[in-house]
Amino acid sequence: MEKILIKGGRVFDGERFSFADVLTDGEKIEKIEPDISLDADYIYDATGKTVSAGLVDTHVHIKRLSSDAFGINAEMSCLPFGVTAANDAGSAYGDRAFLDSIAVKNVVFVAQSLEGKELNFKFAEELLKKYGDKAIGLKVYFDKTISDIKDIKPLEAVCAYAREIGIKVMVHCSNSPVPMANIVRTLSKGDILTHIYHGGENTCEAENFEAFRIAKERGVIMDSGFAGHVHTDFGVLARATSAGFLPDTISTDITKLSAYRRGGRYGMTMCMSIAKDAGMSEEAIFRAVTASPAKALGKECEWGYLKVGRSADIAVFDYTDEGYDLTDKAENRIKNKKGYRCLLTVLNGQVIYRH
Ligand SMILES: [Zn+2]
Repeated sequence: MEKILIKGGRVFDGERFSFADVLTDGEKIEKIEPDISLDADYIYDATGKTVSAGLVDTHVHIKRLSSDAFGINAEMSCLPFGVTAANDAGSAYGDRAFLDSIAVKNVVFVAQSLEGKELNFKFAEELLKKYGDKAIGLKVYFDKTISDIKDIKPLEAVCAYAREIGIKVMVHCSNSPVPMANIVRTLSKGDILTHIYHGGENTCEAENFEAFRIAKERGVIMDSGFAGHVHTDFGVLARATSAGFLPDTISTDITKLSAYRRGGRYGMTMCMSIAKDAGMSEEAIFRAVTASPAKALGKECEWGYLKVGRSADIAVFDYTDEGYDLTDKAENRIKNKKGYRCLLTVLNGQVIYRH
């Protein structure tokens, strides 16, 4: 059994920071305590660095679950950024065997299809069967440019269907035909709204904040789904975060397009940098990429916490000259010479990425 010892880091356990060493034994975390002086097969000096559980991305699009033009290789788009578990948000292709073949731990939200203006639940049912217990929800698109949904009724039907079979609902909101406040009022505890700072029609502005606050209190998950500058208006982001409307989960919405065309090395670490520059505390940021998404995906017993006995999924970060520079559709530009960088990713007790 290989042992890895990560020494001297600032450890985020899913809730708070402390200083400790982390020791693995095979696939599990064996010890988290200060000054572990044991021989290990691999010793990593994390002095001045942050050590957390492997990150959890609430919103990705994996190749072979999405179309080849859109989906991206899961390992290449997650592991170098410290992400060891991800949710494919809108799966339509592939099957359970494919999900099991991906190194990144995963769950999926099944794409809910429309035939004209009618919801096609038969298609969703077939997909749910194909993915088995990896399928934890349905994904619905509220965007006039990509979906025929024009009012709130289809969402009410999808929510009723999802509640009946015990799964969640995730709503993509960009150019929404209805106010986002109506969407969040329709969602239940555990459902997810993504692209909360989208900046398209019916975006999140001051008049909605109260509706969002109430929905959050009821347990509706607010997901950033940044997508670089595509589904984020940095003006909306700045106004919302300064009014205290923070995301529960920070996610990439990474696709083949976003990974290579958005202001640098696009991935989870850039999303964390954006959140930091929007004024989120480091504790809030790390919670939003570990424990909160694990809970949102019903995986809090396996993912998102750095604890003894858990699977040895660990990531190490620094905050360094890892800049980014993004301009959104409204010409709001955000940039910083500094940003988060992933230095080490450990998956099931094996080093699988090292900067
Ligand atoms: Zn997406």
